[in-house]
Amino acid sequence: MSDKKSILPQAFAERMRRLLGSEYESFAASYESGRQYGLRRNPLKGSEEAFDRAVPFPLRKVSWAREGYYYDAESRPGRHVLHEAGAYYIQEPSAMAVAEVLSPNPGERILDLCAAPGGKSTQIAGRMQGQGLLVSNEVMGDRARALSQNVERMGIANCVVCSEKPERLSSFFPAFFDRVLVDAPCSGEGMFRKDEAARAEWSPENVAMCAKRQALILEEAAKMVRPGGVMVYSTCTFSPEENEGTISAFLQNHEDYYIEETVFEGIFSPGRDDWTIAPGAGIEHTLRLWPHLIQGEGHYVARLRRKGQETQLSAAERQQWQDDVHRRGKENDTARTENWKITGDKKLCKLVEAFLREELGIDRAWMARHPGRIVKFGEQIYLAPEEMPSFDGIKALRPGLHLLTEKKNRFEPAHALARTLLEKDTKRRRALTEAEAAAYLRGESLNCGEERGWTALFYEGYALGFGKASGGQMKNHYPKGLRISL
Ligand code: SAM
Repeated sequence: MSDKKSILPQAFAERMRRLLGSEYESFAASYESGRQYGLRRNPLKGSEEAFDRAVPFPLRKVSWAREGYYYDAESRPGRHVLHEAGAYYIQEPSAMAVAEVLSPNPGERILDLCAAPGGKSTQIAGRMQGQGLLVSNEVMGDRARALSQNVERMGIANCVVCSEKPERLSSFFPAFFDRVLVDAPCSGEGMFRKDEAARAEWSPENVAMCAKRQALILEEAAKMVRPGGVMVYSTCTFSPEENEGTISAFLQNHEDYYIEETVFEGIFSPGRDDWTIAPGAGIEHTLRLWPHLIQGEGHYVARLRRKGQETQLSAAERQQWQDDVHRRGKENDTARTENWKITGDKKLCKLVEAFLREELGIDRAWMARHPGRIVKFGEQIYLAPEEMPSFDGIKALRPGLHLLTEKKNRFEPAHALARTLLEKDTKRRRALTEAEAAAYLRGESLNCGEERGWTALFYEGYALGFGKASGGQMKNHYPKGLRISL
């Protein structure tokens, strides 16, 4: 049953009225105004200035997210060449706060446990600047594939995408990560303004079921944080059971964790200690994002730290995992090429590097930005992040950056490789007009001159994919499954 005036499920509206008291009227009124639309610039693909020059529609900055912008609904940025090129990711503005609270850094080991379709993962990767290991996990297979596609579209190299249950992952990565994000499945009350399905599916029983599931997921996530590491928990719902309730119950059973303050206190609203089962745990340092108080939808974010002597213990753990890499890895004879900091089968490393340099014109600067380990699965050759201990026993849809496919006596470059290139990275490139870029995305061949061989194709400085020139035609190598008419 819906409350006619406010389109909200009646039991939900009644509960919010009880919780919010005099504030309820302005909360309910926020449902009369339109939702907020946001997108996030991809810092892996170029500078803010280049982005400002390329984007043809008006944008306004989101104050709490470095790369975040509001756009007007009529701009339809999802139907633009720049979207396909990975210049930005469409993401609701409040959702951008979560990765900001996680505050990832280059070189770290980070897990995004509930990652599809990839909003937070792609934001985290932007901050990591290709350095370190990002494991993006999604339990549902079809959603994990969508996640993998988004990781590829955004040109992310150092991300392993896997599809495992949290309890399997926690036995694979005990106390391994510097930061773990749990963007938990929830009852989605914060999305009621933008998502009719969330309103239709809501029920008090579903809220209770979500809270139970969140506790289980958090339990497994906690095992994967190294001592001294950070765990961020977030939802897009309002119910106390799924937010303050989940966190305070977790803290009751985990003396080794505590709530950490964030730089967003005073910008967002405090979590409500009076809505917990066990007050006094510092819940007021968690964050509530209310749609009637900010320009964004509803969210909750808590930042926890695992106790421990950060640097000492992490060094010991790092050593232990390094040892494991050598014990478990199959391809790690530590061969390195002259120019590229990669390890793996020595002969294969050299062949791969020669192909990248000679056939694709990729230079040392790209190689310097992309260290890793060459791994081969069947005919597919990947650049795996060096920190990834092993792939034995884990369902990895994407074991790192897909570089090449080995065909009979030759290599073919992978689409994912093209997406990591900046114009300065390759001599074998061509800048496309908007009409040519649109034709390329539809799968059409392009006219070209005398040139021959693989060519990276760019639009406004953003790599779209490869073409192969011969006889005055640039053959289209944009993957069939991604082709689109804009
Ligand atoms: N972090 C994502 C983003 O920013 O694009 C959104 C994640 S969404 C809120 C929660 C995800 O958790 C869903 O993709 C859902 O499939 C997944 N999920 C559902 N049940 C789960 C479970 N039992 N364990 C782990 N993840 C689960």
